[in-house]
Amino acid sequence: MPFWFTPKTSLNQRLRLGLGTMLVPLLMLAGGAVVSFEGALDSFKQRDNVGREALFPLAHVEGLLLDLNVVTSPVEPSVPMTWDEYQAKSQAIKISLARLSKFSHQDPAQVNAVLEIQRKWKRISQLCQQILDPSVAQSRPNLSASARVELKEQLKMILQDVQQLNYRLIVFQNDANAAHAETVRQKVRQLITIICGLAVALAALFAYSLSQSITVPLQTLEQGVEKLGKGDLSHRIALTTDDEFSHLAETFNLMAAKLEQSQQDLYRLATLDGLTEVYNRREFNRWLRVEVERSQRNTNQVSLIMVDIDHFKQLNDTYGHQAGDLALCEVAQLLQREVRPGDVVCRYGGEEFAVILPKTHSDDSAAIAERIRLAIAKETVILPSLQKIGMTASLGVATFPSDAETKEHLIKQADQALYIAKSLGRNQVYQAQHDRVEN
Ligand code: GH3
Ligand code: MG
Ligand code: MG
Repeated sequence: MPFWFTPKTSLNQRLRLGLGTMLVPLLMLAGGAVVSFEGALDSFKQRDNVGREALFPLAHVEGLLLDLNVVTSPVEPSVPMTWDEYQAKSQAIKISLARLSKFSHQDPAQVNAVLEIQRKWKRISQLCQQILDPSVAQSRPNLSASARVELKEQLKMILQDVQQLNYRLIVFQNDANAAHAETVRQKVRQLITIICGLAVALAALFAYSLSQSITVPLQTLEQGVEKLGKGDLSHRIALTTDDEFSHLAETFNLMAAKLEQSQQDLYRLATLDGLTEVYNRREFNRWLRVEVERSQRNTNQVSLIMVDIDHFKQLNDTYGHQAGDLALCEVAQLLQREVRPGDVVCRYGGEEFAVILPKTHSDDSAAIAERIRLAIAKETVILPSLQKIGMTASLGVATFPSDAETKEHLIKQADQALYIAKSLGRNQVYQAQHDRVEN
């Protein structure tokens, strides 16, 4: 039984729990999908910021450089740039170029392009100083005109470099994004595969456990019913659970116990004598047939003793029928005490008993009969009125195959011997075809 199905869980609870736990893999899948989706989006968001960090200073530099075009004009522009304004722009360009070089280190071509821009910017800033710095411009006025021409040329070239770097940055960013997208895709695929595997394994485990918790007790019940059907009424179903199956098993066991009891009662009714509880006449016939056949197979001898209580009618007449019944029960018990466990004591009819002695030859059977006769003669039946009654019995003994050829012949021979014992005066043993044993 799986750990989450305790023996006290009912089938109903188990089914609900089992089907409920099957939702766990689904929740895992949903959770995994959300987590991987969010993770992928976050990583793209971060990369996008990095792209902006690199492109923004470049665009800023481009804008500031374009502002410097005003300095290249040979005539005084309508909105001229002062030396202070230039210095502010120059400072901003330097800061942006420094930021740009910080983000371009991943690609050597970008590094070179930034270095080239920085080199050109150095020359531009020298030319701007010549043109705009009042101390330099006044001392060397002729220089300013040629500086403006060179500045125009330098600005054109640096702007071309800036645009190229801009294009390079965008391409680099796109390639990096595509590579990152591929990495994210692989990771998400791996994560989903692991979650799917886990979910399938969990679902299989839950399904297996649930089915086991139902099929195992069902099989035990089925085996029990099968055994009962084949006649093994002593079989009981042992289930350790405390659920509907165990209740069913209890009912089954109760039914099997009742059937077994009924079968035992029927067997007793069919085989035992109701008064004395030794085997009845029908069982006597069956046992004698069995033993005679065994004797024929094994060449053993089987003996039969017929016991008839003497003057029993008189006992009944004197002490009453109930006293007679009591005497019959006493004799039956005495016979069972006096013979071996393998011997068969039967009530042949009325006050007559038969004892089958398997594997017993004639000498031994005569001795046993004599022992029985003596025991009956010694026995005292105490009535409810505390009166004591004594009895005697006559016994006829015959042995198969020495005295008889068949089972019926054996009975006839023993009966005949009994008749002779009676006619010879009762309270004695007579052996078929043999001389009378002393009384
Ligand atoms: P014998 O010495 O020649 O055997 O004489 P007997 O009186 O024993 O034999 P008989 O055949 O004349 O009488 C047998 C008696 O046994 C008659 C019958 O009422 C009695 N009897 C048979 N079955 C039972 C029984 O179940 N209970 C009682 N109390 N008496 C029984
Ligand atoms: Mg009698
Ligand atoms: Mg009789």
